[in-house]
Amino acid sequence: MSTIAAISTPHAAGGISVIRISGENALTVAEKVFFPSSKNKRPSEMNGYTCAYGNICDGDTVLDDGILTVFRAPNSYTGEDVAEISCHGGIFITEQILRLILSEGAEPAEAGEFTKRAFLNGKMSLTQAEGVMDIISAGGKAELCCASALKEGALFRRIKTVSDRVLRLLGSLAAWVDYPEDDIPAVTNEEINDTLCYANKQLDELLSSYDSGKILRKGIDTVIVGKPNVGKSTLMNLLSGCERSIVTEIAGTTRDIVEESVRLGDIVLRLSDTAGIHFTNDIVENEGVKLAKKKLGTAEMILAVFDLGAEISEEDISIAESCKGKNAIAVLNKSDLDQKFDFQSISDNFKECVILSAGSGEGAEKLAEAVEKIYKLGDIVPDAGMIVNERQRACAEKAKNSFSEAICALASGATFDAVNILIDEGENFLLELTGERASEAVVNEVFSRFCVGK
Ligand code: GDP
Repeated sequence: MSTIAAISTPHAAGGISVIRISGENALTVAEKVFFPSSKNKRPSEMNGYTCAYGNICDGDTVLDDGILTVFRAPNSYTGEDVAEISCHGGIFITEQILRLILSEGAEPAEAGEFTKRAFLNGKMSLTQAEGVMDIISAGGKAELCCASALKEGALFRRIKTVSDRVLRLLGSLAAWVDYPEDDIPAVTNEEINDTLCYANKQLDELLSSYDSGKILRKGIDTVIVGKPNVGKSTLMNLLSGCERSIVTEIAGTTRDIVEESVRLGDIVLRLSDTAGIHFTNDIVENEGVKLAKKKLGTAEMILAVFDLGAEISEEDISIAESCKGKNAIAVLNKSDLDQKFDFQSISDNFKECVILSAGSGEGAEKLAEAVEKIYKLGDIVPDAGMIVNERQRACAEKAKNSFSEAICALASGATFDAVNILIDEGENFLLELTGERASEAVVNEVFSRFCVGK
């Protein structure tokens, strides 16, 4: 395989930049540009896990000084010989050094190529490589926790346990089908059924945790609704105040959406419609309900705010009715006032109800508990292995469907040959999930989402 090089640090000015070179000639290329100040040190002869200080030179011109770190195959990130040059973190100087390295025989690395080589050299599974990508993009504790578990191989091990058991069954079936006259113990319908039911139970568990896992990782699209003056803005301020709110600008294709996120314990609530965040009190009543209803349709979760200190109104009832069947929490605000609000009459419309005072903050912690209950977040254990992306979900789903078909075929008296084909198909989807038998197209697709230098 060719020797590749890229800048592995962000394309921005910083304290240091790291240029990574990987491949058979990594150290001879490094030797042409990096000159250790200790004259008896030669990069091509350095041991793995050692460093040298020196100059980076283009002919007689010293471009910069820095540190060279050497990793020897197979004990490197990619599994190949790797040289990493740390230089001063200017964009121009780093690019100049990379250009020099490329002129000495290295090829520019493609997006994700270092990690792709690590995968191809057996340093990590495909799901672990996806974990590396998720660690880089993780924006919060829960997301990082899921990404680390993925990188540590939690999902890989869980799928591998299932696929190994299915593989043993396939082995027995193949022996039985190919050599029926030999003295091979018969495979029973019960054995096949047991293995496939076990596999599907595991896959079901993984698939059902996908949605709640997504919420833990990406946050929940939330709207706060309620008629004017019930305390929506005060609640919003309270939530933002728990931890400074993060504002991210996402460049959309048609327009820019400003997304405001607030943290509630470990959960992020994404309040994506700014018009919905900055409530104005001058909305006439009907307009208020109309706006609220429109937002109710698209949100994943609704916080419907009511004023405990006021009588229930038609508008409150109308808002409550729009929440029916949705992931809606009734936030009964102003718990410090004399209670006039008749919640009982509308309680059926909500999954959870929280009594609090947005003004003083009293009872606010119960809001996080209510969200966790709705999404059953307490049941999620990232270390047990979780499906975290659409590719993995699709593979698990397809494997499950093939195994289900095999179970049906077996029950309806199909031959072992026919059942075998279906089980084999399911097993292939499991191996595609872990990357053990993924096509080149699948592998390329996974790594194309990486950044250059990773
Ligand atoms: P919005 O129109 O729904 O956004 O309501 P606001 O957040 O502007 O609040 C309306 C009024 O209710 C303001 O005067 C707030 O100070 C008051 N308010 C909000 N939360 C509480 C609370 O918990 N207790 C009391 N007594 N007043 C509150």
